Amino acid sequence: MASSLCFLPFLLFVVSSLVSSSSSSSSSSSTATDVLHGGEEAEAVGHDLHREYLRDEAASRLNELGKVSDVNGYLERTFLSPASVRAANVIRQWMEDAGLRTWVDIMGNVHGRVDGINASAPALLMGSHLDTVVDAGKFDGALGIISAISALKVLKVTEKLEKLKHPVEVIAFSDEEGVRFQSTFLGSAAIAGILPAATLNISDKSGRTLQEVLNDNTVGATEDNFIKLKYQPESVWGYVEVHIEQGPVLESAGIPLGVVKGIAGQTRLKVTVSGSQGHAGTVPMSMRRDPMAAAAELIVLLESICKHPQEFLSYDDDCSSVESLFGSLVCTVGEISLWPSASNVIPGQVTFTIDLRAMDDVGREAVLYELSARMYNICDRRSVSCVIERKHDANAVNCDSELSLQLQSAALTAFRKMAGNVDVDVPKLMSGAGHDAMAMAHLTKMGMLFVRCRGGISHSPAEHVLDDDIWAAGLAVLAFLENHV
Ligand SMILES: [Zn+2]
Repeated sequence: MASSLCFLPFLLFVVSSLVSSSSSSSSSSSTATDVLHGGEEAEAVGHDLHREYLRDEAASRLNELGKVSDVNGYLERTFLSPASVRAANVIRQWMEDAGLRTWVDIMGNVHGRVDGINASAPALLMGSHLDTVVDAGKFDGALGIISAISALKVLKVTEKLEKLKHPVEVIAFSDEEGVRFQSTFLGSAAIAGILPAATLNISDKSGRTLQEVLNDNTVGATEDNFIKLKYQPESVWGYVEVHIEQGPVLESAGIPLGVVKGIAGQTRLKVTVSGSQGHAGTVPMSMRRDPMAAAAELIVLLESICKHPQEFLSYDDDCSSVESLFGSLVCTVGEISLWPSASNVIPGQVTFTIDLRAMDDVGREAVLYELSARMYNICDRRSVSCVIERKHDANAVNCDSELSLQLQSAALTAFRKMAGNVDVDVPKLMSGAGHDAMAMAHLTKMGMLFVRCRGGISHSPAEHVLDDDIWAAGLAVLAFLENHV
């Protein structure tokens, strides 16, 4: 934790955990247009554009992978589901087609590696996740895997693959979204060595533990093998991830690619409110302990704090992180369930999730402290019990400055290949969404490229990336590999 004296009430207390119960019952420029329409002009300008692989094949593979789903009618591919296993096999074939040696680890991560001229040199890792949310778009995660594979395929075709100075390994991570086990980054965190072995005991909604699910798919998902998934830091040179922006900045700037400066920290909470179950017709309003009404008040409180944190937190005037907190704080209740869930029954229990993100870690802790204190007060006043469990935490991370500069120049190279000698400021963005790069930052230096997506929409079937922007991403990865690896 930073030594900042920023957030005053927060520092008066030591918040070791939020798990307890309430006491009552418990840039753009005009030239960007050229970049935007690079596809039309590209043939005339460039001669090493590799359109066949970086644009057409990559786009068709994204479409193909987007159809690998566990349900008819929309895309859903959660951790180690049957569709995830099918997707892993398809990705593995594409890796082999690009000249990579492949394997799948016990966590379901798919690896494809080329050694280059020195197999024992530290390796560049690249990749993203193959799992999806429910009713997902086809670019989130898949784009990072496919753009890496496509660029390596071009190196194979141009006979440069075996001449790489560092080994390069593409990893399609088995879990980033955390839909199945409510715990994100299972794939990348295992490789980064930050996933405790106790994670093997967490269970999904059907009550099956992670270890049981792993054992269905592989042999030897033991604690020992789980720990061996961790890569040694000295064996790794860095990690690079391409990902759709999932926001509107690049589109509004009119530029296909941007470099990521850092990723917001995030916390996920599970809140369980328990009251007194009863008959909707017979219990007088004054005698109710209704967890649903309490949950509604808690959710409105959350929204108020996250919209206007300055009205809830006190901080000193020198607090440098106030601005980054206030400008980046976002909170969401995305899942709610109640028991017994019948129209004529006052519920006995309501459970909901909170997803809270901010660029500033100290500020995020201050918000969590203030939020939980006020939530317990509300539960006390309403005579319901309230348990707040902290299910997931990730600190904000900064991208490596040198890798970011290299990716920036790779993006510019891509723009110039597509659109001529344009002069474009490659935008530098913060990411409000978590990515595998967040976990990988615990292992090695990391850098990220964002790719423009239509309307900034993601986690939706409306998610869309232009074929030419897929191409730009592939060209940037290729330029990065050719110039720095
Ligand atoms: Zn993603």
